[in-house]
Amino acid sequence: MFAMLTKFAGSLLGTAIGDSLGAGFEGFGPLPSPSYVLEFARQYRGQLRYTDDTHMTIGVAESLIERRGFDKLHMANKLMENYEQQPFRGYGPGPPTVFRMVRSGVSWEEAPRRLFGGRGSFGNGAAMRVAPLALLFHQSLEELREVVSQASQITHTHPLGVEGAVLQAYAIALSLKATPSSFDPLDFLEAVAQATREAVYAEKLSTAQKLLEQRAERAEVVRRLGNSVEAFNSAPTAIFCFAKNYESAMDAIAYAISLGGDADTIGAMTGAIAGALHGEQGFPAEIVEKIEDSAYIRELGAKLYELWESRRS
Ligand SMILES: [Mg+2]
Repeated sequence: MFAMLTKFAGSLLGTAIGDSLGAGFEGFGPLPSPSYVLEFARQYRGQLRYTDDTHMTIGVAESLIERRGFDKLHMANKLMENYEQQPFRGYGPGPPTVFRMVRSGVSWEEAPRRLFGGRGSFGNGAAMRVAPLALLFHQSLEELREVVSQASQITHTHPLGVEGAVLQAYAIALSLKATPSSFDPLDFLEAVAQATREAVYAEKLSTAQKLLEQRAERAEVVRRLGNSVEAFNSAPTAIFCFAKNYESAMDAIAYAISLGGDADTIGAMTGAIAGALHGEQGFPAEIVEKIEDSAYIRELGAKLYELWESRRS
């Protein structure tokens, strides 16, 4: 099962690579080309620092490893403590507001529901941190949906915020169970589409299949799927970016970042799926070495793998 070990590490490293590379382009319009991003990655001197996407993914992994499974309250506190230690990671407005409310005495149940005038958040913050859950619970899509729903609701209670995380987790789980040589991107998109329970996602994933068949230009991909912070304007986009570039994990990340917009998060989500298919060897060592804390992130992947193995037997 060596292959599965490298896939676990690959999904977490893919998150960090997409996030760290995309962070420099967050808020940009579409870039000249995906190869522009690859060239930037090759030529960059120094450390590529990650943002909230990877920081929260690390927190989710740490909690699963420490509790040897999913414990919502432990995970919530871990995410809050990690934020308080490193609040400079470019967090969006939602999670820090939830953490401040909890520190002032509001319950973990109530705090996220109060966001955005009582509507709850449908941002992509639950989807961007979901990889460790997808790795540990990939064997049962039923259980995965349940666990991801609960974990998402630590900060994102709106059904569309939760559903984005569930679909991102499904995409990672499918990728983990597939091999590059037998992978079919249209079947993959269809399988994710079949899993959704929300109309807006079903429509986006059906559009993604058409865009893939029609070899659509990047501008049309952005126009039809979106590249902004709402989960429904970014999770299906990441799933598409991976499907279109499934043969190379680095190409998938570069393509995702080249769309501009919420480039670090779309890069992170794309990297998580692509890394789960190709494993760590899908990423050039000279790029992995530039990523901040890459050895620790790889170690979290190995520990999650050991945990998954021990829970199986
Ligand atoms: Mg970020």
